Amino acid sequence: MSTSAAVLDVSATALPIFSLVGKKAFVTGASRGIGRACALTLAAAGADVAIASSPAGVPLAEEVRDQIRALGRRSEAYAGDVGARGGVELMCARVLADFQEVDILVNNAGVVRDGLFRKMDRAAWDEVINTNLNSVFDITQRFIEGMAARKWGRVINISSIVGRIGNFGQANYAAAKAGLIGLTKTLAREYARKGVTVNAIAPGFIKTRMLDGVPDRALQSVVDTTPVGRLGEPMEIGASVLYLASPAASFVTGHVLDVNGGMSM
Ligand code: NAP
Repeated sequence: MSTSAAVLDVSATALPIFSLVGKKAFVTGASRGIGRACALTLAAAGADVAIASSPAGVPLAEEVRDQIRALGRRSEAYAGDVGARGGVELMCARVLADFQEVDILVNNAGVVRDGLFRKMDRAAWDEVINTNLNSVFDITQRFIEGMAARKWGRVINISSIVGRIGNFGQANYAAAKAGLIGLTKTLAREYARKGVTVNAIAPGFIKTRMLDGVPDRALQSVVDTTPVGRLGEPMEIGASVLYLASPAASFVTGHVLDVNGGMSM
């Protein structure tokens, strides 16, 4: 086996390794925040992008859809509760009917229902597990076999720093996000020889609606313990998704990419 024959092409012609022209992506939770940034970044790199939101987010999702179309890419917006199995099946069937296939799946939709464990009721636990973890089982199962049949695919799960290190008041959220990491590594092993990579991103604290309920003092403490000294921007997660989705990351699978300004390393 030769390990040195290939000459690395570092000319400008090598740049298409980040091109997603001809690829079809599906991003959940893309009406706002991190999902919106992921959808726009993938479209900017050339992908057609199906986007999803909950029914409440339809007006915002339609704005994102129109922004993607303005980039010259195909886009459609879908609405449904990802935590409800029937809704997911209908939504995924509509995506496949419109796009025929999905090459890049970004499982991003998520919610928080925080509370101390001793006060957390089963409804808050179930809602977060259904929305943030069970949805990823349902949606990934719908698309990953098609990727394997075509011998090319990318699944990118948006986990969290909280799934790695836990967080006060977030037992449900931490369990869901840690579950995503186990799922990611297992799927990476099962699909590695079928041309499908499966990776996760563990964002730190990113400026989105999700931080709206966090008290200023808690956010200041996050900034103080983050080496870069600030919160993250949604586009900084979008850029990481672009890397993992691109042909450039073809030898990366089962990885959890920390994008947290050094808060945990
Ligand atoms: P966000 O601004 O609140 O956006 C959440 C997205 O998920 C929205 O598009 C929302 O749709 C969708 N969504 C929520 N529940 C849904 C449901 N039941 N069915 C369908 N869609 C649903 O939050 P974000 O910060 O961008 O979060 C995106 C992902 O990043 C989440 O998985 C979150 O856990 C993860 N994350 C965030 C941070 C952070 O600091 N922001 C850190 C680590 C990980 P609507 O617009 O219709 O509500």
